Amino acid sequence: MSAKTKILVANRGEIAIRIIRAIQELNHEAVAIYETPDQHSRHIRIANEAVWIGDGPRSDYLNIDKVIKAAKRAGATAIHPGYGFLAENPLLAKACDEAGIIFIGPSSEVIEKLGNKVTARRIMAEAGIPMVPGTQNLSAGEAGLEEAREFAEKYGYPLMLKATAGGGGRGIRRVNNDRELRDQYSVARQEALAAFNDDSVYLEKVVLTPKHVEVQIIADNQGKTVHLGTRDCSIQRRNQKLVEIAPAFHLSPELTEEICETAVKAAKAANYTNAGTVEFLLDSDNNYYFMEINTRLQVEHTVTEMIAGIDIVRTQIKVALGRELLFEQQDIFLRGHAIEMRINAEDPKNNFMPEGGKTISVYQSPGGYGVRLDGFCYQGLTIPEEYDSLLVKLTVFGWSWNETVDRLKRCLTNFVITGPKTTIPFYLNLVNDSDFRKGDFDTSYLDTHTHLFDYEDFTSEVNKLARLIAEIHHKGKNTYAA
Ligand code: ADP
Ligand code: ADP
Ligand code: MG
Repeated sequence: MSAKTKILVANRGEIAIRIIRAIQELNHEAVAIYETPDQHSRHIRIANEAVWIGDGPRSDYLNIDKVIKAAKRAGATAIHPGYGFLAENPLLAKACDEAGIIFIGPSSEVIEKLGNKVTARRIMAEAGIPMVPGTQNLSAGEAGLEEAREFAEKYGYPLMLKATAGGGGRGIRRVNNDRELRDQYSVARQEALAAFNDDSVYLEKVVLTPKHVEVQIIADNQGKTVHLGTRDCSIQRRNQKLVEIAPAFHLSPELTEEICETAVKAAKAANYTNAGTVEFLLDSDNNYYFMEINTRLQVEHTVTEMIAGIDIVRTQIKVALGRELLFEQQDIFLRGHAIEMRINAEDPKNNFMPEGGKTISVYQSPGGYGVRLDGFCYQGLTIPEEYDSLLVKLTVFGWSWNETVDRLKRCLTNFVITGPKTTIPFYLNLVNDSDFRKGDFDTSYLDTHTHLFDYEDFTSEVNKLARLIAEIHHKGKNTYAA
């Protein structure tokens, strides 16, 4: 029996709940933190204790000092950062080290070097990992534009102008010609500074109509690194993932093996520990190129858990507490298919505009064989508009691809969320689309399948009806009371 550890979860929403569940299953204790807009969030209720860290919004979840203080106050000896917020900030890992708190993730040095896309590319190039041609950080001002032009002359357009410190699909711009490069260059720098507190940008050749293929890896502190197979995350909007699939089944077994081995090699080259994701782009000729390493738990880790039968968060915690990985590569068997859909409070028809600030009037979730839900909402919750729009992740498992899509369709049909608009009706079109059914999609899928946006949205009618029912209900009460 290992000792009980108090672990602070430095996050909110569905991922805080996901992590708290793993902590409690391990018989440890979970400490939640929250800002005022999140005071009704379910992660607070299920944690063993909760610490209010400020009014926020966002600023307190991003405040390393407050997070460390909350951990100390609660007597927590480890912190799990989840994804987003401080998860990829090397200063949190560093502050944990200084405070004698275990950070559940890689070391601050590893996070720092991999969080910088240019440094990461350099390390990977040295290790012989394939990647598309790109520049170093471009110099400030006119000189940088000149460097960019030289690169463009040599490699041709289109190019990706990327924020070196970027993430979450932000800070990426495609430039198709010299004019766009000139127009975008300084804007990109300014935006990078505002968003990531670092104005560095660099150029990378565009991979045309690529598939996004990534590999889940996990490494212990004793030098063992294994992979848990591939995921396809090509279905995106604005370079952000919407639907994720495991495995990336369009790859041949040989190519899968090669990409997975390359990912392990990349992780080892970076002295990686704990769970991480190595992202690649795959072109139509099946060439693959390193894109980045995410030094944290990924939103879509659930699909890998379904096909590998391994609880990644439980493993993360154990590894961080010093345990060796109990499995070797040959012990890992991947079977079946899993699909995750991010059910967001967004209006797909209106450029996926967030629908935060609305109250969930009805919440009825599906269940049954092969169905997993990771959410934080309930009927009556007003979705705080200060945070991201992810309400719940629907992950389904099936033996074959067809079975998995059939199950997904059944779940989406049974999933009722009213109040905000959600991505559910859009996904219902998606599961009926013949290309999706065939497994034929790349990152241009949404742009080339505009009929997916063609559905009737009943949200406003349903909301009107809900209000009417509430009014009648209220009237009834008054009459009775009077
Ligand atoms: P994943 O790569 O796990 O699929 P996303 O790209 O959707 O996840 O990012 C997960 C969350 O983390 C999102 O809420 C996103 O906005 C946030 N995020 C990721 N990287 C950054 C970053 N560098 N700065 C701020 N937020 C980020
Ligand atoms: P983030 O850190 O925001 O996740 P990534 O570098 O991982 O940024 O890129 C996110 C997405 O942007 C990719 O999944 C892909 O759709 C697109 N993308 C990034 N780089 C390229 C590229 N060189 N060519 C084509 N698409 C790209
Ligand atoms: Mg990425």
